[in-house]
Amino acid sequence: MEFDDDDNDLNDVNSEIINIEAARQSIIELIKAVGENPEREGLKNTPDRVARMYTELLSGYASEPEKIINGALFHISYDEMVIVRDIEFYSLCEHHLLPFIGRVHVAYIPAGEVIGLSKIPRIVDMYARRLQVQERMTRQIADLLSEVLKPQGVAVVVEAMHMCSMMRGVKKHDARMTTSAMHGAFRANLATRQEFLDNISRGSKPLQF
Ligand code: ZN
Repeated sequence: MEFDDDDNDLNDVNSEIINIEAARQSIIELIKAVGENPEREGLKNTPDRVARMYTELLSGYASEPEKIINGALFHISYDEMVIVRDIEFYSLCEHHLLPFIGRVHVAYIPAGEVIGLSKIPRIVDMYARRLQVQERMTRQIADLLSEVLKPQGVAVVVEAMHMCSMMRGVKKHDARMTTSAMHGAFRANLATRQEFLDNISRGSKPLQF
């Protein structure tokens, strides 16, 4: 299956991974547990809607790296830094099942191979659309690119706003979080790392939601 062809295909695959009926039942129980009536007009279709929504928000479980990359690796004698910045993502924090949303910046220095530009946002989506913590998502993106490209170095920076901090109002000033994963040249060489960090801070707009 080509990953970008059709969302419905993706949902079909995903519905085999996510048990929609079990999810629907659990939403009914949750609605009851908070003292609401799952039969009332406004809530009647909510369990079904929410269950199907999760098949989309968690579609990353049905994605496989090989299918996403699908041969889009190219031999090329380019060994300067490649930067893809401001990749939007939407994820769900695994501690509260609330969204955390933001941007991913990726850089790598090729060692003979580059990856198709459109593939990096899809890799981000594959990991974002799971129950996640930001630190792990950051590392997973970097690890996969390292594994696939075997580059001289990979760097990933993720900036995100966490609804579990914002909505619960405990530490609003901490709602924004930045994480990074640096491999190879980005870890070993301060100037390389700084070049990337300077690039992503140039002209970037603050996160606003
Ligand atoms: Zn959380």
